[in-house]
Amino acid sequence: MRASLILMPLLAVAAAAQRKCGSTHVPGALKEQARAFRAANARSSFPAAHAANRTLLVETYFHVIGADETEENGWVPEDKLTKQLEVMNEHYASTGIKFDLKETTRTVNKEWAGFSVEGNDTSIELDMKKKLRKGGYDALNVYFRPLGDGLLGICVFPDDVEKDSDDFWLDGCQVLHSSVPGGSTKNYDLGATATHEVGHWFGLFHTFQDGCDGGDQVDDTPAEADPTQGCPKGKDTCTGAKYPGLDPIQNFMDYSYDACMNQFTPGQATRIYQFWDKYRGKASNSTAHFRGVGEAAFF
Ligand SMILES: [Zn+2]
Repeated sequence: MRASLILMPLLAVAAAAQRKCGSTHVPGALKEQARAFRAANARSSFPAAHAANRTLLVETYFHVIGADETEENGWVPEDKLTKQLEVMNEHYASTGIKFDLKETTRTVNKEWAGFSVEGNDTSIELDMKKKLRKGGYDALNVYFRPLGDGLLGICVFPDDVEKDSDDFWLDGCQVLHSSVPGGSTKNYDLGATATHEVGHWFGLFHTFQDGCDGGDQVDDTPAEADPTQGCPKGKDTCTGAKYPGLDPIQNFMDYSYDACMNQFTPGQATRIYQFWDKYRGKASNSTAHFRGVGEAAFF
């Protein structure tokens, strides 16, 4: 799975110029699963109603990795992390999901703070995450650090993952340290980057995934040909009867400025729970299981 996340444009773009997320390539198996869920949803109104009544408390860990103890080099102050958690909870409120922050770790490590994710070598990332990652496959780990490569964030999609495998350890979201609320990344300083990346962790695709005829396999997300830059009113890149609605520039899974992102659709909430039940929410993947009798050594 890890190798699938490295297919990114070679063009280097300053982080502040436009949103750039590293989770652009969705694994084929996950796309197939999304199509299967979509087909199942079309046959029954049950999934939508099901999601509407659900709640989920996600065990969450924040990890701050700085090259030193300056905010510029990754050391996100506590008040901004608190605000980031508040913003994530506000953004996911319509889905019934809440993030329960269990612990925040802080590490000064130049190599971990500054490594590039654009490449096949995951050795530094694996080393960092093996030392910092906490909880089971149902626990969200967010690594705030100076990402480089013009990236605002990169996250790993859910999958059938064996515990203690490299894929298990590599799970989680990396978020640009300066994209937190009050951070220094212009137009991406309200905390929506973490919300967007965690959307991938739940299994959501970009709204513009594979263009007009691709999409995120969620029925109530309007089709969109390309990523949105800024907050363009009336943007409509997929037109005609086949593609109702304007581009979903307010959707957290687009590339718009933080200021105009404010929505997950009901269909996306349903999809989150469908993926959750299949991958992360299974009893065998829970922290409780991993910490069960005879497995204490795993943590
Ligand atoms: Zn993304």
